[in-house]
Amino acid sequence: MTIEVRNISHGYPGRDGVSYFQALSDVSLSIDSGTFVSFLGPSGCGKTTLLRIINGLITPTAGEIRIGGERVSGPKSDRAMVFQEFNLLPWRTARGNVEFPLEMQGVPKAERERVVTRPLAQVSLEKFGDFYPHQLSGGMKQRVGLARALGVGPAYLLMDEPFGALDPQIREMMQLELMKLWDSDRKTVVFVTHSVDEAVFLSDRVIMFGTSPGRIVADLTIDLPRPRWVDDEAIKTSPQFIQYRNDIWRLLKRQLNSMPAI
Ligand code: ADP
Ligand code: MG
Repeated sequence: MTIEVRNISHGYPGRDGVSYFQALSDVSLSIDSGTFVSFLGPSGCGKTTLLRIINGLITPTAGEIRIGGERVSGPKSDRAMVFQEFNLLPWRTARGNVEFPLEMQGVPKAERERVVTRPLAQVSLEKFGDFYPHQLSGGMKQRVGLARALGVGPAYLLMDEPFGALDPQIREMMQLELMKLWDSDRKTVVFVTHSVDEAVFLSDRVIMFGTSPGRIVADLTIDLPRPRWVDDEAIKTSPQFIQYRNDIWRLLKRQLNSMPAI
C-alpha cells in the first residue's frame, strides 16, 4: 500500500524548555508499494526524524502519515526498523534477538523458533543462531538486525543508515545481498544513507533533503535496469549510473555549501 507523507512538520523542544528547533518543515511525499526509496542529505536535515515519524515512533507537530489510507498513530508490526548501531540485546543469541519482537507480540515459543529459521537463512546466518553479538562481526550483527526486522513479516522496511558502520567491502556485499533479498519479495523499503553511490545503486527513487529547516529539495527517479546484483560492476560502470551519481553529487554539494561552516 502507498505510504503518504502529508505536510509533515516537526519541532523538537530546546533544552531551555522555551526554544524550539524546527527539524522538518512541510514535507510531502508519496511512496508506492514495492518501491525502494532512499533519503539522502547532509546530517541534521531530519531524515531519521521522518523515518521515525513514518514508523509511528514520533508524533509529528503537524501533518500526518497515511498507509493505504489509514492514519499512522503508533508503531505496528507491518513496519520494521533496521538501525545503524544494530541495537542488539547483548545477552541474547542471534536467534534470541530475532525472536525478541515476536516474543513482545506474544508469539508462543515453539512458533517463534519455527518462524525465525527463515529470516536467519535469508541473511545467511543459519549456522550462527547460537552466537552472541560479541562473537559476531559488524556485518553479521547487521544481518541479525535485518533478520530481526524480517522476522515480523513486515510489508515496509525502514532502514536508517544500516550499512554506515560497516567497512567498505562488507558494505558492498551487504548492498548486493539486500538487492537479492529485495528482488525476491519486493517490499517497500525506505533507506536512509549518506552515500550517493549506495543510494543510486539500490534505489528506484532518491529523495534529497536540505537543512534549515529539513525539507525535500529534489526527488529523482533512478531508472537503472534490475536485477542489479547479478552484474553489479556493469551497473556501476555504466554511463547512466555515472550520470546519476554526478547529478546527485552536484545537488548534494549545493546543500552542503548552504550549511553553516563545518
Ligand atoms: P538526520 O537523520 O538527517 O541527521 P535527524 O532527524 O536526526 O537528522 O535530526 C534533525 C535535527 O533535529 C538535528 O538538528 C537534530 O539535532 C535535531 N534532533 C533530533 N532528535 C532530537 C531530539 N530528540 N531532541 C532535540 N533535537 C533533536
Ligand atoms: Mg540520522
